[in-house]
Amino acid sequence: MPNTGSSLPELPPTPEVGLPLWLLAELTYRCPLQCPYCSNPLDFAAQGQELSTAQWFKVMAQAREMGAAQIGFSGGEPLVRQDLAELIAEARRLGYYTNLITSGIGLTEARIAAFKQAGLDHIQISFQASDEQVNNLLAGSRKAFAQKLEMARAVKAHGYPMVLNFVTHRHNIDKIDRIIELCIALDADFVELATCQFYGWAHLNRVGLLPTRDQLERAERITNEYRDKLKTEGNPCKLIFVTPDYYEERPKACMNGWGNLFLTITPDGTALPCHGARQLPVQFPNVREHDLRHIWYESFGFNRFRGYQWMPEPCRSCDEKEKDFGGCRCQAFMLTGDASNADPVCAKSPDHGLILKAREQAQSADLAIDQMTFRNERNSRVIARG
Ligand code: SF4
Ligand code: SF4
Repeated sequence: MPNTGSSLPELPPTPEVGLPLWLLAELTYRCPLQCPYCSNPLDFAAQGQELSTAQWFKVMAQAREMGAAQIGFSGGEPLVRQDLAELIAEARRLGYYTNLITSGIGLTEARIAAFKQAGLDHIQISFQASDEQVNNLLAGSRKAFAQKLEMARAVKAHGYPMVLNFVTHRHNIDKIDRIIELCIALDADFVELATCQFYGWAHLNRVGLLPTRDQLERAERITNEYRDKLKTEGNPCKLIFVTPDYYEERPKACMNGWGNLFLTITPDGTALPCHGARQLPVQFPNVREHDLRHIWYESFGFNRFRGYQWMPEPCRSCDEKEKDFGGCRCQAFMLTGDASNADPVCAKSPDHGLILKAREQAQSADLAIDQMTFRNERNSRVIARG
């Protein structure tokens, strides 16, 4: 019999709260680029003051004590922070595996050497496209592509395992073969071909970004052909292909469960269970006011969507809820206006029609790159003013 919401004992017990193993340190929202698919909040320009070096040291130490093992330095563009090498060195001292997630803009040979000295383990550089003109148009910078190429070579020369990240969308996905060829030429160890996920600015520009199903299927087929070719040639380069959930019938188990593994700290110290959660109508705690143990275990924000008690139908009586936790809370909120609804990606959701409509729109959409809203301070301030 379906659980109607009144017979609570039929719900599985709330699982034990996991450890915040993965800490994402969003050091700043400042960024010299303007990608129209950026996942930063639309109103980033109106957020509070950035945490100081000492405040980040405290956050890293507290998270490490609670079990955090990996830290990602991201942003905005983390290279904007002049204390980045100091932060990396402290993270290594505390025993973290350290990742730098960067656009490569602001990187120099000297900084790569300083980061190496500080103990940085891993660098991920993002590209906008395989083609200089498209890359620079998307990035909003005429120098971006050349700088990225130079820095990707320098990162390898310093002996780093290198991940190249390409956010793919309708304007670059048809060049997937050229993207992969470029990554092979740059000697990348891992290539992330991640189809745009529709949060932040990407959600705002969805009509201009969502590829068609045909585009996606072709890109995945070509990626598989390259995987076979690399294997035959004994090339260790690994290709990771991420499809957008807009073409799935079940949602992803977002963040592996709410407040279960991932901890994001935004530039002003707001603690979030995922980097997109800031937009939700939920009060989230700040590390300036509370220690992380309280934030993770006790705060309202981190407990809001743990377990199953908060779920309405159809998730409540669904036998798949322990697999996907009802999908993504941010997507449910952005598309339906209610963060506790089932993620509309799910074919069982009464709002699944919204996803079908977006797929249909993608068939006929014709929005040029320069017609999208670029992620920059000016646009962000306009959005923040409402
Ligand atoms: S996605 Fe683009 S605009 Fe956003 S932080 Fe990264 S490089 Fe900057
Ligand atoms: S109804 Fe909810 S729990 Fe069931 S599969 Fe869909 S999103 Fe997951």
